[in-house]
Amino acid sequence: MSFNLHPVINNGISKGDPSFSGGSLHCHCKASPVTISLTSNISHNHACGCSKCWKPSGAIFSIVGVVPRGSLSVTSGNEKLFVVDSTAVIRRHACKECKVHLFGRIEQEHAFYGLDFVHVELSEEKGWQEVQFAAFVSSTIEQGLVAAEEADLVRGQIKKLGLETYDALSPGLMDAIAVFTAKKNGVLRESKL
Ligand SMILES: [Zn+2]
Ligand SMILES: [Zn+2]
Repeated sequence: MSFNLHPVINNGISKGDPSFSGGSLHCHCKASPVTISLTSNISHNHACGCSKCWKPSGAIFSIVGVVPRGSLSVTSGNEKLFVVDSTAVIRRHACKECKVHLFGRIEQEHAFYGLDFVHVELSEEKGWQEVQFAAFVSSTIEQGLVAAEEADLVRGQIKKLGLETYDALSPGLMDAIAVFTAKKNGVLRESKL
């Protein structure tokens, strides 16, 4: 049994090009699509099983990476963008016609402030960073995308791709959030190493 994790990774992971320096992304509208331009490659690219990230129809996961917000600009169709949920930490900007999410932006104090969330499958260019890991795998059960009994099969399929799977973010990103909180609370411990 094979799951439709996401078309970009179903048949294996194709490596990105570390020297690739960005490109343009566009929504699914045939006429006057919304386009954005990125002046850098993405990082922390991952498969995300949360309920908020945009995924193509039929896929269990979203594929999402980040860029510094200064590297992102909307190059056309800005008037078609709307914020999907303005109460969410990540304000996801989507096209009101095709509903594709162009970018997510954080406007409050947060460990990931300054990073925008993007889906590079919306680009024709090649060289974007490859998928690094899978996050929020158990959340796919919550959304009725995966049966509880199937979750470990999904994890197995992801591991076969050479990716680690997590039920939150990766340890590095969870640590970054925790460091932010510890600093805010004035308790960040200095390393004795
Ligand atoms: Zn559109
Ligand atoms: Zn997500």
